[in-house]
Order: sequence, then structure tokens, then C-alpha cells
Amino acid sequence: MTNLDLFGETASATPNADPELDRVLALRALLHSYAHQYYVLDAPVVPDAEYDRLFQELQALEFTHPDWASVDSPTQRVGGKPLAQFAPVRHAVPMLSIRTQTDAQASGALNFDTRIRKELGLHENHPPVEYVAELKFDGLAMNLRYERGVLVQAATRGDGETGEDVTQNIRTIGQIPLKLLQDVPPVLEVRGEVYMRRDDFEALNERQRLRIAHGDKGAKTFVNPRNAAAGAVRQLDSAIAADRPLSFFAYGLGEVNWLQELGPVFGTHYDLLQTLKSWGFPVADQVEIAQGAPDLVAYYERIGALRDQLPFDIDGVVYKVNRLSLQQQLGYVSREPRWAVAHKYPAQEQFTTVLGIEVQVGRTGKLTPVAKLAPVFVGGVTVTNATLHNEDEARRKDVRVGDTVVVRRAGDVIPEVVSVVLGKRQLGSLEFSMPRRCPVCGSAAVREEDEADYRCTGGLFCSAQRKQAILHFAQRRAVEVEGLGDKLVDQLVDAGIVKTLPDLYRLGLVALAALDRMAEKSAQNLLEALQNSKQTTLPRFLFGLGIRHVGEATAKALARHFGTLDAVMAASLEQLLAVTDVGPIVAQSILTFFDQAHNREVVAQLRACGVVWEEGEPAAQATSVLAGKTFVLTGTFATLARDEAKDLLESAGAKVAGSVSKKTDYVVAGADAGGKLIKAQELGVPVLDEAAMLALLQGERDGGA
Ligand code: NAD
Repeated sequence: MTNLDLFGETASATPNADPELDRVLALRALLHSYAHQYYVLDAPVVPDAEYDRLFQELQALEFTHPDWASVDSPTQRVGGKPLAQFAPVRHAVPMLSIRTQTDAQASGALNFDTRIRKELGLHENHPPVEYVAELKFDGLAMNLRYERGVLVQAATRGDGETGEDVTQNIRTIGQIPLKLLQDVPPVLEVRGEVYMRRDDFEALNERQRLRIAHGDKGAKTFVNPRNAAAGAVRQLDSAIAADRPLSFFAYGLGEVNWLQELGPVFGTHYDLLQTLKSWGFPVADQVEIAQGAPDLVAYYERIGALRDQLPFDIDGVVYKVNRLSLQQQLGYVSREPRWAVAHKYPAQEQFTTVLGIEVQVGRTGKLTPVAKLAPVFVGGVTVTNATLHNEDEARRKDVRVGDTVVVRRAGDVIPEVVSVVLGKRQLGSLEFSMPRRCPVCGSAAVREEDEADYRCTGGLFCSAQRKQAILHFAQRRAVEVEGLGDKLVDQLVDAGIVKTLPDLYRLGLVALAALDRMAEKSAQNLLEALQNSKQTTLPRFLFGLGIRHVGEATAKALARHFGTLDAVMAASLEQLLAVTDVGPIVAQSILTFFDQAHNREVVAQLRACGVVWEEGEPAAQATSVLAGKTFVLTGTFATLARDEAKDLLESAGAKVAGSVSKKTDYVVAGADAGGKLIKAQELGVPVLDEAAMLALLQGERDGGA
């Protein structure tokens, strides 16, 4: 079955004798409609990968049947019609598209190089062609026109010939110079991409969610940064556009009136980019000169590995022939230059169907609706689940069983259902509603005022919470019981063998060996692992108890501050509040936990079973220069594992964060550091190597003692 059948589209009322011609007509109609939704309405209805797939199918059919060519085909056109609400801008130099290579393999680069060499009439023994490799930003193209160094007009690409005048909105982008300070040609058109950084996108969506929660009917969230950027640029109210944080990268030129004495000052694309930079335009750092196909392949792979760490979305890389005279020689085909190609990465958005919506129960009783998906390969992994977070979010997205949905997985962000294809909804599908009872233990599920989540009130009576509590205690970052995974915990809890944490240490060989798929050898191994886990540390033990809001960093801070478990358990609210980073909510949660007799009993029994750690002295207050400082670790270190470095820093009172921001105090970079290092350099955050970090820690120990 073809995809068109799947989506219920029909070619034309009267079928042609040739089914391939029918297919061509159907594809054209469908692509026209998708392109209109995407370019004109900024509301794509299918993922890009789907559009690209159909587009390439059409290209291939048109190639084998040149007599069916039509100037009206989407393969011959650029973008979409400009919106009438904006004044039209006729481009002095058309704004074109770029040919796309979607095979996410080395062959994408090899094919391009082979084609270029053929067009240039080069033989095997000719030297490699020199290219520039750049990022393919996922935003929208912009033409910035400067007259005598002053920005006079900004226009979208539109249909390539005529764009939309969006000057007012573009003026709100801080990165775009309004006036150029250098001597530039009297007419200068700079081309580049307007985009939204991922963190700006997340923050914008967060603000939009708040607006929706406060009853703002006009507010909506955006499906991805590109869509948010396009919506902001083509916003009729520039006050709203100003509220949407946009960024810009320059990558080329439009019309330029070179004065005799100013020349074109470059003969290559690379030098053009350097010139744009010197004129004050942002140019991405990852621009590289590549000699022939091997360098392009290496670039594709390197950027592919770094893609998730970049602060903005890219959907591929672009290769361009470097020498401008060769570009001229190669020229253009209808909608694209012959001298450039876009080599795409695996898509970060795909279609799939919702097989079910399951409500999962977390360690603290939180109920989370999770969409069970037909397996789909997206963002480099096979996705089968996507969290719907909570009832409000599930309702807002209105995801229903049987729906066709767009799933997005970008960077290391967890997969998300971004939208539902309403046109494909099955008749009679039901809106999701959160159960009022825990699906596992049947206890009442309640939603506190001001909370987004429902919670099961069953506590450790609820086997789901018990299982999660055991897995949490046994995990690597807590007391670490090697080999105690979820399947085993399911069995132990379901068979009623383990009811509380101390029961783990009362397990015997006979009971274990009687479990499903548990041979005597594995039972023996587990007992050994349990034995080993008894020797632990106070932070691991505290973290393992699963006190709400006490993560690893807080557990370390508590252990460091109080030295002993008894001191933590006896601490008053005021004493807890004196710990770095412990606020009223966390302090209250710790108090409540140790107030419960059964929790104290669990601690006592664990100790009685032989769980021990070395206790220390309470830390002298405020001796640490690293206390409260935020570090970000990136790359591979020569002597320490990443976790060890994190432990050392945290036990010196520092915080270790996952991403670089203006609030980061230091970035520690090891070998092959990627996007985080780049960002640190961009923001001017001090960068240390491993040795410098160790020296800081050593100084801390010497000075702090
Ligand atoms: P394109 O995005 O494939 O390539 C040209 C564009 O790339 C330029 O206009 C420019 O904006 C951009 N670009 C980014 N980095 C660049 C760089 N370093 N150098 C030069 N240009 C750079 O162009 P297109 O033909 O407009 O778009 C097709 C894309 O849009 C495809 O990826 C397609 O998936 C998507 N699309 C999706 C839908 C949908 O319904 N989902 C519909 C239409 C198009």
C-alpha cells in the first residue's frame, strides 16, 4: 500500500490509462497542499521526512517521464506564495532552494562530488574539488537589504521571485545590525537564516503554556523551533514578534553593487563568509573548507555526532563549491544551484500511530499518561513511548487511541507527541481522561490544588510505588545492587517476597532460585551483589531512600553539611534550611519523611541488616570557594570518569549542570569536547582542562582543611 492510499488521498476523479501518471498528478496535488500549509500558513501537517520522501518520488517519476514535465510541478517551484497581508518584495536576485540528499550515509556526499566532477569535466587524476561545508540551519531564509550601510528592508523568500516585507519584525532581532560600521558596497543584500535557539523555543512554549493556563484564548504552543521562528517573522504585530526571541546566521549574498575601489574582495565562498563576519554579521563557527568527498564525509559524521549538543536545530549540512568562478560555471537548474547540495540527517519528526494510552505510576505515586506508539525510527532511535506528562497536557494535545500523530525527538530531549493529524482520526474515538483510581492498586488518585499531577494515595501499599522505590534504591547512583532490574523486582514484589527495602537483604538462595528464569548461579550473583551494596556512602544511602525532592546533589549537600545520618534525621527546619540549596519545600519534605515512624523503622532495619557507610564530621561552614559554583563537564577526561569528576566537584560543594548558560561558572573540557565547549566560548565562560580542575579541587582540600 502506498502512503497516499494510507492517507486517503485520491489522484483525480477520472483515472488515466497510465497509473504512473495518476501517481504523478496525485503527488503534485498533495505536495502543493503540504507546501501551502508549510510555507504560507506556517502550519505543517506532515513531518518534513514525509514531504521529502514524496518529493523525491515525484522527482524520480518526472525524471523517467520527461514528457510529463510541468512548470506547475512542486519540483519546479520554490517555497509558497507570499501572504497578501505583507507588502510584496520583488527579489533582485531570485532566492532559490537547494537540492536535497536524504540518504544519511557517506553516499550523500559521494554522489554530490561525483556529479560536480562530471559537470566540471574532471578525471580521476585531477585534484580534489575544494568545497565549503556548512550547517543547514532549520529556520527560514531572509534577505536583508542595506543601502549605504543602513538596513532598509528585510524580506522572506516567498516563492523565490517575490517575498514578503517583514522589515519591522526583523528589526527586533538583536543580532541583525541595523547600521553597518564598516565600508560596505552602497547596495548590499545579505542572505541568511532566521532561527530560534532551542532554549529560547522551550522558554517561549513555557510562557505560552502559562498564557493558555491563564485563559488567553489567542495563545498557542509551537511544534518546533522552525515553526515558532516562521510564526514570529510573519507576525503582523511587531510587539508580539519582539516577544519571540530570534537569532540569525548569514550564509550568502543577494544583489550587491560593488564600487570599483571596493571590488568583490573575495574569490571564494569561504572568504565571502569571513567578509560577512567582518562586516558584523553572525556566521556559524562550524564552517570548514573540505578537499573532495572524504573531507565532506568526515564533516557530515563529525557534525552528526555534535548535532544534539548544538544550541539550535539543524536538519543537515550544506556543501558548496568554494571557488565562485566554478559556481558560476556550474550555474543553476530551475529551482536550485548546481554547485550546492543539502545533505540531511535522519529526521527528528515522524508519523506514527497511538496504540494505547497507559497510565504509569511513579515512585512518589505520580500518575503519568504515556502514549504507546507503533515503533518509529526518529532522531536516531526507535521510539515506542512518548510521555503526555499530565492530564492537562494530554487534553491540550487531545491525543486519542488510534490517532496518527507526529512524534519529535530532537537532541537528548525525551520524545514528544507534537501534534495529531486530525484528518486521520477514527470515528468514535474517545477523549482521554485521567482515571480517578490508581491503575495498579486501586487507591484513590488525587490532584492537589495548584498541582498538575494526580497521585496515587496508596503509598508503599501500592505495588507500583514499591517496585519503583526498590529500583530507585538499587540503582547505580544509589546503593547499587548489580543485576537487580525491573523484571526481577516485578517478580519479587508480585510474589510478595519483598515488601520493604530491608526485605532485600533477607533474601535467601532458595527463594531466589525458585523465581522464573533464575538459575542458581544468577541467584548467587544477586546475593553477592546485595552483600556488596551494604558497604555504601551516606550520600548514596540518603539518595536511595527516595525522599521526595532529594536528588543526588541534595543528598551530597546534606551529607557534607551534617556528616552523619542521625544528624540529618534530627535536624530542625531551620537547620535544614542552612544547607546550600535546600529551600523550604525540600526541607519540609525531609522533615516529613523522617517524621514517619515507618520510614525510621526502614532505616533502622537496613542498618541492622548490615548496610554501613563511613560517617564524617559536619563541614565547617562557608570554607569552600567552590561551594555554590556551577560546573559543566564535557568531552572525555584522561584520568577520571565523568561520574567521578562530578562526585569530586559535588563533594566540594559545587553544582554540576548539564548545559552551559550565562550562569555557568566553569566548563571543564576533555578530549573531543563539542557543542558545550563552543557555547562556553560564545558566552565567555571560563574553560578549564582536567588538570586545572584537579588543581582547583586540590587547592580546596589544602585550603579548606
Ligand atoms: P531547503 O530548506 O531544503 O533548502 C534551501 C534553504 O536552506 C534556504 O532557503 C535556506 O533557508 C536554508 N539554509 C539553511 N542553511 C543554509 C546554508 N548554510 N546555506 C544555504 N542555505 C541554507 O529549501 P526548501 O526547498 O524551501 O525546503 C524544503 C524543505 O522544507 C525540506 O526540508 C522540506 O522537508 C521542508 N518542507 C516541509 C513541508 C511539510 O509539509 N512538512 C512542506 C514543504 C517543505
